[in-house]
Amino acid sequence: MSGETPGGPVRVWLGLGSNLGNRVAALRTGVAALIQAGLEPEAFSDLYHSRPKYLPDQPPFVNAVGRFRTRLTPLQVLAAGRAAEAAAGRRPRERYGPRELDVDILLYGGRRIEGEGLTVPHPALAERLFVLVPLAELDPGLEVPGLGPLSGLLSEALARLPAEERVVSLGRFEPGRGRPLFPPAAPAGAGEA
Ligand code: ADP
Ligand code: MG
Repeated sequence: MSGETPGGPVRVWLGLGSNLGNRVAALRTGVAALIQAGLEPEAFSDLYHSRPKYLPDQPPFVNAVGRFRTRLTPLQVLAAGRAAEAAAGRRPRERYGPRELDVDILLYGGRRIEGEGLTVPHPALAERLFVLVPLAELDPGLEVPGLGPLSGLLSEALARLPAEERVVSLGRFEPGRGRPLFPPAAPAGAGEA
């Protein structure tokens, strides 16, 4: 499922999170901005409720993971994530603090990237249940470059991390509801009585 053909589009998995304002609306706005920037959505995890992990004194998060296809480079995807965060109203605040929207590049095809300002797979992926659980819901058979099977990372994290870090599904994430995000299905009712 790392899905890379030379010269073709690449699959990328993005982590989305919000803990300020209308959190689900922020995720939807972010997805619309990502599409605008050249990321084609393929599938989304459920929405998950999670408690803030690093700075506990802030509101709970809503998280989701999306799988996209794109011809953008990794740095262009990072820039698209920034633009999506801005579109959702994110302003500069303290690291790990509250935010209207956070967009993290979890995986970029099967690539490992160690650059200035960009590390892929995301360096905190294996310690975050709010990433591992939605990622495993979407693509349970994934191999995480350099770290091995996602299923192993998830079971290790579940065994190791405190119960407070468990995430709870809030149900389906439908970023296109109310606007045409995915191509519409075949026209309904044409020629029917
Ligand atoms: P947080 O770590 O809470 O997500 P920010 O969203 O402010 O905080 O991101 C901090 C920095 O992480 C950004 O400046 C970005 O360049 C860097 N970064 C490194 N690797 C990644 C990645 N895989 N996805 C997103 N940002 C990344
Ligand atoms: Mg971030």
